[in-house]
Amino acid sequence: MKPFTYVVPQSLAEACEASQKPNTLLKGAGIDLIDRMKERLQTPEQIVNLLPLKDELAGVAVEANGELRIGALTTLTQLEQHQALAAPAFDGLRLATGMTATPQVRNRATVAGNILQFTRCWYVRSEAFHCLHGGRGPTCLAMTGENRYHSVLGWSDCVRVHPSNLAPPLLALDAEYSTRLGDKVRRRKFSELFPADPRAQNPEHTLEAGEIVTAIHVPAQPAGTRSAYCESREKLTFDWATTACAVRLVLAGGVITAANLVLGAVAPVPLPREKASALLVGQKPSAALFAKVAEMAYAGASPLAHNDYKLTIGKAIVRQALDEAVR
Ligand SMILES: Cc1cc2nc3c(=O)[nH]c(=O)nc-3n(C[C@H](O)[C@H](O)[C@H](O)COP(=O)(O)OP(=O)(O)OC[C@H]3O[C@@H](n4cnc5c(N)ncnc54)[C@H](O)[C@@H]3O)c2cc1C
Repeated sequence: MKPFTYVVPQSLAEACEASQKPNTLLKGAGIDLIDRMKERLQTPEQIVNLLPLKDELAGVAVEANGELRIGALTTLTQLEQHQALAAPAFDGLRLATGMTATPQVRNRATVAGNILQFTRCWYVRSEAFHCLHGGRGPTCLAMTGENRYHSVLGWSDCVRVHPSNLAPPLLALDAEYSTRLGDKVRRRKFSELFPADPRAQNPEHTLEAGEIVTAIHVPAQPAGTRSAYCESREKLTFDWATTACAVRLVLAGGVITAANLVLGAVAPVPLPREKASALLVGQKPSAALFAKVAEMAYAGASPLAHNDYKLTIGKAIVRQALDEAVR
């Protein structure tokens, strides 16, 4: 590892000031970041450790308007076990959090770090490969190489997938996020955190250099809201998803009055599927409807040489998530 300066801020203001310095990286628990530094994929001159700011930036609170405020440094275990997530509207977020990694990882990993983690593509994560997304080569090596875990939807010149468990359910719940960049405080829709055109040269997220995520905000959900999250993976634990689906439904009198369906692990960004969601609205839940929605969720897919299994499994996961949401 190249030597670097390690900043341990005593306040958010101090962290914001330090993060303005060029070639600085922010650290949550460091599970993803330190991995990448060990591989020499990141060689910062300075690291700002955010963990001393847990008093300010960790914890879950229910605001007066019913909104859930999730501090950026909240651990995945704290989030999963928080009383506020016991409501059926938040089942999807709770399940996605509890399925992430292992208990040891969840006890350390932060919510912001999970959402902002780098793709798991083995070409970009190894210094040995001259990959386009890593800025080390002219082309996406996974496109014609070993691509069983890569994208089947929404890709153009890079077939990496977005690995975060938390991002799909947060998108389905219409969440927002707050940041600090120097003195500037901003609050934006969660969908703006991910590039609209996830090409190779775009990073996984749209934050500016030094911009610190401070909190995620989940709006109060209307009566009758149900949600679910399901994923497929090769191992039952210690693994990332091969396909994932988060759904949020509002039911009134047995009819679905609103729906958000978001796919994970199949595209370079967590992928809202508006046309599939629209098919649900105004309908009564049924196996036939859910099969149609699953087909629509994967409409236009372009699988690669080794990952067309994701279409079959992915559609089954969509149906399972819908079944669980209305159970
Ligand atoms: C064995 C194993 C299995 C795993 N399985 C899964 C899985 O199934 N699903 C899944 O989603 N993840 C999985 N993970 C990944 C794990 O959840 C993430 O690595 C972890 O959540 C990252 O959190 P962190 O706090 O350590 O982030 P860090 O590693 O500290 O940071 C990650 C990135 O976020 C940036 N960052 C962190 N906090 C902030 C902030 N507040 N503001 C701005 N930028 C910030 C950092 O600069 C860095 O780029 C797995 C990891 C392991 C080791």
